[in-house]
Amino acid sequence: MNKANPLRASTASQSHVGQVRTANQDVCGEFSDNRGRRLLVVADGMGGHAGGETASRLALETIGEIFAEGFDDAPEMLGRALKGANAKIHSVGNADPDLHNMGTTAVALLLGDGDSISVAHVGDSRAYRMRGNRLEQITDDHSWVGEEVRQNRLAAEDAESHPMKNVLLRSLGVAPEVDVAVMQQPLRPGDRFMLCSDGLWGEVGAAEISEIMERSDAQTAVRDLIDLANRNGGSDNVTVSVAIVEDDPTDSTLETDIPEYEMQTESVTLPLAAIVDRETDTVPTSGEFSQQRTGKGKRPSWTGPALAFGAGLVVVLLLWASL
Ligand code: CA
Repeated sequence: MNKANPLRASTASQSHVGQVRTANQDVCGEFSDNRGRRLLVVADGMGGHAGGETASRLALETIGEIFAEGFDDAPEMLGRALKGANAKIHSVGNADPDLHNMGTTAVALLLGDGDSISVAHVGDSRAYRMRGNRLEQITDDHSWVGEEVRQNRLAAEDAESHPMKNVLLRSLGVAPEVDVAVMQQPLRPGDRFMLCSDGLWGEVGAAEISEIMERSDAQTAVRDLIDLANRNGGSDNVTVSVAIVEDDPTDSTLETDIPEYEMQTESVTLPLAAIVDRETDTVPTSGEFSQQRTGKGKRPSWTGPALAFGAGLVVVLLLWASL
């Protein structure tokens, strides 16, 4: 499963501030190692003042650092990377009153690891897979409305307008421990993957995503998806990362018997402090979920430096702020 298998895929990632916000708290990044494996990461920060930008940047950096240390077990590494990011953000937030309670979502996709892909996530940034003409969301939103829909207590079509749509049940950095969802699934030639923050999926419907993903190369898909989110309102920062695996019908080595959706989620009882309202940047106590959003004013964007890792490692850190 971990045999060398050069990645035959094209990838592209971009983040945009959107049409309303003054700062971009999203980040995206791509990391590669000398075994041809590539990691795509999207993170969507939250927290008053500079917190959101700091939290998403710390998540990206920490996940990239743990990836760069080397690994044989991709799902294990991804779980450890997101937990490492959680610990780092929590500890930095605890040490600085201005950053207290900052948090971020994160979704990470690992390609080039033999015949499978691995995905880890916390929060409501999503991963989609396009296989043939079928688009499928392969992550579950760790949000209040997402859980209500899964429990059949809320209709999916009502979730988007629900007053609690911004309440996350899991995020990185808010609590000392976090429950990371990790999956591994077989890769097939021609598979297309898309990671995004809620600024994309909140503005662009599944049919539109599907249409763009089906016809475009990775760079065009990223550009067109972001453009469409902005045309549809651009009410939030919007971040998209796309990977398109080469379609090679002569190569049968990509077929495996790994079961689909092998979820490796630990069972951790979440403290209430893990629940945040991303719009009000608050950690609600019981019964406070109905807080309404406050001002959206944010500090100027963080425009971070590129990361540099060791020999054989190429890191592309993509951070777009106000454009
Ligand atoms: Ca967002």
